Amino acid sequence: MKNERIKVKCVGMDEEGKGIVKINGREIHVPYLIEGETAIVEVFKKRKFTNAKVIRIVEKSKKRVMPECQYYNKCGGCQLQHMSYQGQLEFKQDVIEKLMIHYRSVNKILGMKDPYFYRNKIHSTLSYDKKGMVISGIYEGNTHKVTPIEQCIIQDRRADEIIASIRKIMKTYKMKPYNEDTGEGFLRHILVKTGFVSNEIMVVLVVSSKIFIGKKNFIKILLKKHPEIKTIVMNVNNRKTSAVLGNREMVLYGKGYIEDTLCGCVFQISPKSFYQINPIQTEVLYNKAIDMAKLNKNEVVLDAYCGIGTISLIVSSKVKNVVGVELNKDAVKDAINNAKRNNIRNTYFYNDDAGDFMISLAKEKKEIDTVFMDPPRSGSDEKFLSSIIKLAPKKLIYISCNPVTQERDLRYLTKHGYIVKEIQPVDMFPQTYHVETIVGLRRKDTL
Ligand code: SAH
Repeated sequence: MKNERIKVKCVGMDEEGKGIVKINGREIHVPYLIEGETAIVEVFKKRKFTNAKVIRIVEKSKKRVMPECQYYNKCGGCQLQHMSYQGQLEFKQDVIEKLMIHYRSVNKILGMKDPYFYRNKIHSTLSYDKKGMVISGIYEGNTHKVTPIEQCIIQDRRADEIIASIRKIMKTYKMKPYNEDTGEGFLRHILVKTGFVSNEIMVVLVVSSKIFIGKKNFIKILLKKHPEIKTIVMNVNNRKTSAVLGNREMVLYGKGYIEDTLCGCVFQISPKSFYQINPIQTEVLYNKAIDMAKLNKNEVVLDAYCGIGTISLIVSSKVKNVVGVELNKDAVKDAINNAKRNNIRNTYFYNDDAGDFMISLAKEKKEIDTVFMDPPRSGSDEKFLSSIIKLAPKKLIYISCNPVTQERDLRYLTKHGYIVKEIQPVDMFPQTYHVETIVGLRRKDTL
């Protein structure tokens, strides 16, 4: 069955938004295909794997729309633009229900009013096109070839304009984009971070050498065109690596960071610090998580995997104390600074593995009333989960961007004395398959 074209019916969808079809009894997952559709697909074999791609849709789903973005099929950053937003929300609701309905019913997903232009962190790579013009965009697949992208409809609009201006300035000053293969050239990437409430903008120029010829003029022209830029940082990355940022940083203009407000607290955002990328939905997410926790003034809260301390600081005024733990040293520094910035005195941050930290808390028999946990995509681990059981908080609020690992961890928790009280999906990343889920749990003997 090499490079064969056949007609198939899509019988379901996987968690990544691909359509499931059955070919010769085998399940194949096809991008850009919607459940219920009939399509002609091309089947091709790559080593052990059989893949298929859509050639033509024969019977369309009601959910199918024309993607808004002209780069949709090439870019890969979004996976669901061929579905109406309502269709995307139904798909995400379905994913969570299939995984979690055996615990209890799932609340209706909280979507966005306007599901575009939401990202506050924008990354663009520079290169030349065939005609020798400077282009900016993304790497195509696993190659070093850059696909030019002039407008991205899920990113803050202001970033595209700034990146376009930088391309023009590069042309005027004959500044060369960096070439991944030869190691020649200067400007590698542009990172733009935007504050949703503050309107502040940070531009990070990732360059291959600390010698920036024409620096003064470059900055002057960029600021003249974009007075909204609050700070410009140069980051030197001279290694042959796919990592975007290098270790050396120099502030070229402004303070080197921007600020933004989330649920009433101000946060400093530096080039490297982790910050939620959809500010509107982050407030929706945090407010719902806090609502589920039903906090009171006498309780002690643990914020595990706390990042720059966002949840800790936001809940601090509602409780007695908050303890935050985070593996990334820089994020912990940011959390401590953010507490100072907001005059908050009842938060304590620790730089440790969440599991190890929990074991020591359990040994010291520390009383924790509520735990918020927000682990990375890989989920939590047995070390952490078993010490939760020992620590025995009454309430546990588990936020996750990967429902598969979250469900795996819920199995452990529900076997060991917790019950699921509420499940709330939130659409943090419209146009992509990603879905965030908050699960509220309660220690059984406290009900
Ligand atoms: N709650 C934060 C951050 C969530 S992202 C927010 O809402 O902004 C997940 C965080 O877990 C990251 O900051 C990552 O550095 C941290 N992390 C990953 N593994 C960890 C571990 N084993 N122990 C503690 N923190 C960890």
